[in-house]
Amino acid sequence: SLPISKYVWFDGKFTTLDKAKVPITTHAIHYGTSVFEGIRAYWNENNLFIFRLDEHVKRFRKSGQFYNISLNFSDQAISNAIIGICEKNKIKKSCYIRPFYFVGDYGINLHVTEKAPTNVAIFTFPFGDLFSKNGITAGVGSWRKFSDMSNPPQAKMGGNYLNSIIATQEAKRSGYDEAILLDHNGNVSEAPGENIFIVREEQLITPPLSSSALNGITRDAIIKIAKNLNIDVTETEISRSELVISDEIFLTGTAAEITPIISMNGKKIGDGKPGHITKKMMKEYTDIVMNKNQNYSDWLTAVY
Ligand code: PMP
Repeated sequence: SLPISKYVWFDGKFTTLDKAKVPITTHAIHYGTSVFEGIRAYWNENNLFIFRLDEHVKRFRKSGQFYNISLNFSDQAISNAIIGICEKNKIKKSCYIRPFYFVGDYGINLHVTEKAPTNVAIFTFPFGDLFSKNGITAGVGSWRKFSDMSNPPQAKMGGNYLNSIIATQEAKRSGYDEAILLDHNGNVSEAPGENIFIVREEQLITPPLSSSALNGITRDAIIKIAKNLNIDVTETEISRSELVISDEIFLTGTAAEITPIISMNGKKIGDGKPGHITKKMMKEYTDIVMNKNQNYSDWLTAVY
């Protein structure tokens, strides 16, 4: 299990991990009525910087609103708790922060309203690379990304991740590091926990949100960074065969950061190594999160 830091935040207070418990009648365990965020903080030998905290807190509240699940703390209180969990644990290492809230003891009732009881918690653990920065293999699987006709893809909620789990299981069984999901029209949507970009003729292309892809905060960062570097970015449909003939492919996400895909469906992408645009975006992203690029310092919240 994860090396979770000693202090966690639970319903407004700091406590220890062993004391943060919920009953087996917790609604979220039965129906997936939980909302979560994944945030990274980066230690640069000087300070700990939380990346795009405000954007994460905003999405955190919005996700629950699709289902009238109440977050009974202000954005300021949540932000303070996220900063606080780092301070309280005296974290001086890059880490992952997981805030979540969920419908609590609400029986078997499917009629969830604002009045349903909710619990909120935050924990953190030291975290390095999720995937090799030298690149990974991926394959388009048979499971489609669930469509907006069934569930809201922009709600970052527990239940939605069953789709990610089954796609990941299939990809691993097929010998790939990661799955790529097509949307209901057969165009590329995203990976189980990352957005996708392709590079073609020095330009970036990423599927639109109408492909049921999550509005990723890293995706948004890459779009802004590329524009500032005068690299064209287009949000448009990508067909499955366009993937295999693209010059470069990379994934973006809080956990995955910028991860190159060097082989797709068993076929080499480019020369089978991370491409030069991908490497440029990786370098830029690392500099930004480490507070080495002052043009983006408003994306960082210093903990100390
Ligand atoms: N898509 C899905 C399905 C995800 O779970 C994530 C991770 N939150 C992403 C994309 C990437 O989003 P972000 O850059 O905000 O972490």
